[in-house]
Amino acid sequence: MNIQAILKELNKFAISSRELDIEETERVELLRQVADYTSTFIVGLNKVKGFSQNEVGDLSIKNGKHSLHQLLSQYQAEVAENGINAASPKHLGYIPGGGVFASALADFIVAVTNPFSSAYYASPGAAAMENEVVKWLKSVFLFPDSAVGCLTSGGSVSTLIALTAARDKFKIKNDKIFSSVVYLSQQVHHSTQKALRIIGLEDVIVRYVPIDEQHRIVPGALNEQIEKDTADGLNPFLIIATAGTTDTGTVDPLHDIADVAMNHKLWFHVDAAYGGFFILTSKKDLFKGIERTDSLIIDPHKSLFLPYGVGAVLVKDSDAVLHSHYYTANYMQDGHNEELLKSPANISPELTKHFRGFRVWLPLQLHGIEPFISCLEEKLLLVQYFRLKLSEMGFCVGPEPDLSVSYFWYPFSSNPDEKNRQLMDEIHKDGSVFLSSSVIDGRFVIRIAILAFRTKKETVDEAVEMIERCLKNCLFESLPPQ
Ligand SMILES: *Cc1c(COP(=O)(O)O)cnc(C)c1O
Repeated sequence: MNIQAILKELNKFAISSRELDIEETERVELLRQVADYTSTFIVGLNKVKGFSQNEVGDLSIKNGKHSLHQLLSQYQAEVAENGINAASPKHLGYIPGGGVFASALADFIVAVTNPFSSAYYASPGAAAMENEVVKWLKSVFLFPDSAVGCLTSGGSVSTLIALTAARDKFKIKNDKIFSSVVYLSQQVHHSTQKALRIIGLEDVIVRYVPIDEQHRIVPGALNEQIEKDTADGLNPFLIIATAGTTDTGTVDPLHDIADVAMNHKLWFHVDAAYGGFFILTSKKDLFKGIERTDSLIIDPHKSLFLPYGVGAVLVKDSDAVLHSHYYTANYMQDGHNEELLKSPANISPELTKHFRGFRVWLPLQLHGIEPFISCLEEKLLLVQYFRLKLSEMGFCVGPEPDLSVSYFWYPFSSNPDEKNRQLMDEIHKDGSVFLSSSVIDGRFVIRIAILAFRTKKETVDEAVEMIERCLKNCLFESLPPQ
């Protein structure tokens, strides 16, 4: 094509291509609609159910234009009001969080400004802000300044980074895989076993260490197992403990496990994805020893109540992280002189990514840390309140939890597992408040996880009423016909 032809073609596309850059008056109008939508959504949160399950309508992409108004109605019906209402105070299943508004504002601004936070030279401010968040996390968990870390999409990816560092530090590859041993407990989150598979360690030996009645790893038993494995010529290299297990909210005895790890010179990893930020509360003593671990994961999208999509990992041995995560290429040459550790891309499998630093930094700076700590303290009390209420109603409750997750079951005289499953079904059908179930010590149990920042005493009262109502239905059904 000659220049004339190119110019003619360019003119042809000009009007349509410019439409993506919405002009100012329309932009203001769209923003107003989004502000209205989100306000109505938040105001309505106390009135909607915690859980409902509807058939999903037609979400197929149809070429052509649609009004934002129409698309937001569709979003509300098909997405926001369908399934677990994770932003609501009534999400008391799995591990909730909520999603503080300030983070949403940060995400919006980040998406508009679109900084490339992965490389320091590309956006020094964004990289520095992300690094400041990591530095703050290091101070919370008493990690040394020399430790490295980054913000990830969540606990699962954080685990990949941490366990890869452990693998590389101990050079677990080729034939060595089959004799290498990882120690963890039955209560470990399944993302751990998944991570081992993903990073090529499917064939390592996994030892499930004995736990006590509180579901905590027994350090003496761990030590014995390591001694035995060493004597048998195996290669122990990694201990994984949890600070806040998903099922029972248990914190393993980190200090004692750190002793074991140190004596045997093993890598000590702690999964604090759910429980981590409780270190800021009256429960801080439970976390003693966390500063002695080699790697740590924490999920700000759980116990810091940020919207889904932000986890973090801290690792003490920077060389171990860089071994797999630092790589370069000719087209990256402009950044070569920058200090390696200032660029988040060198600590993470991700290159181009959402700039997550601002969604953590902004809420912390806007609110200060106090309201976050109050929310956590409140959850600790609410779970105690809930357990007392349920005991009064004749329920059995699990052991006193370390944090804000607990479980219960009703002592039906026959087929308790089946009847408690029925009770769970009734609760899901009711849906006023969302709870989930698990199997603990071979028993079907119903879990309560109080962590959403909007959850207050009124929500727990509503949960208790709902459970009472559903229990009545189950008891009534199980009466023999007259
Ligand atoms: C949620 C959770 C994970 C996984 O984190 P994601 O952010 O969901 O990927 C890992 N460990 C524990 C203890 C968790 O609660």
